[in-house]
Amino acid sequence: MQALLHSLWNNHSTLLQIFLFLGVIILIWVAELHNALVDAKEKWRHSRVNLLFITTALPIQLSLSALVILVSGWVTIHHWGLLYLLPGTTYGWLKYLIAFLLLDFCEYVYHVLMHKTPKFWNFHLIHHSDEEVDVSTTLREHPCETFIRVCFLMVWVFLSGASIGVLLLRQTIQTVANLTAHSNYKIPVKIERICQLLFITPRLHQVHHHFELPYTDCNYGDVFCIWDRLFGTYREMPEEDIKFGVDNYQNYSSSDFKALIQHPFLEKKNK
Ligand SMILES: [Zn+2]
Ligand SMILES: [Zn+2]
Repeated sequence: MQALLHSLWNNHSTLLQIFLFLGVIILIWVAELHNALVDAKEKWRHSRVNLLFITTALPIQLSLSALVILVSGWVTIHHWGLLYLLPGTTYGWLKYLIAFLLLDFCEYVYHVLMHKTPKFWNFHLIHHSDEEVDVSTTLREHPCETFIRVCFLMVWVFLSGASIGVLLLRQTIQTVANLTAHSNYKIPVKIERICQLLFITPRLHQVHHHFELPYTDCNYGDVFCIWDRLFGTYREMPEEDIKFGVDNYQNYSSSDFKALIQHPFLEKKNK
């Protein structure tokens, strides 16, 4: 019965998460268009290739998320994971906060691994290959990275003992945070500077999308920038110096969907 309830809740929440994602991305895309110098046709031309990544990400994300929910259900039933080493076994607000921070740290570790492991970087550089970062860049993820990312999440849930409630809360905040971080909507510098004491803001994530090292290997944070500040990977740079893209993808087309999907495998063959 519990498994059935979990499954129903999962189906319902997955739909809600998809609607939230679509609602926020459309809202930010329109706001960017209103705010930017490019016309709608030009912006759509850029976004179109990124939108195509939904077709590869969605089946992988949906099927593997069901497994993540199963793992979360298992750790909750068996009181397994780091969070259960804390005093008390119920999920109070403090435990929600600790679980949230723990998962955010796991995302930081995941992102560092995607950059520092050559095999993983081959897939992750597709996200970095966008030469005009805007909210649609959030979608630009090679399907193999989608697979690796959700598998990592499964491991983090198993190790941390995160409940389904924490996962849903995290997913909701992460959706809004990731889409906002990729947005090129200009918010007042003063407000952004206050936000970036704690959070990954668009300006900080744009530095991460600068085309060359050492800036590509900085500001790895997902929702919070505290891990970057703690582990020395926090960097700022003047907005006018930022050039999007990635130096080891400059000889390839960044707007050819088929080429982007094939690139990691062709790179392997060429080695
Ligand atoms: Zn990255
Ligand atoms: Zn990004």
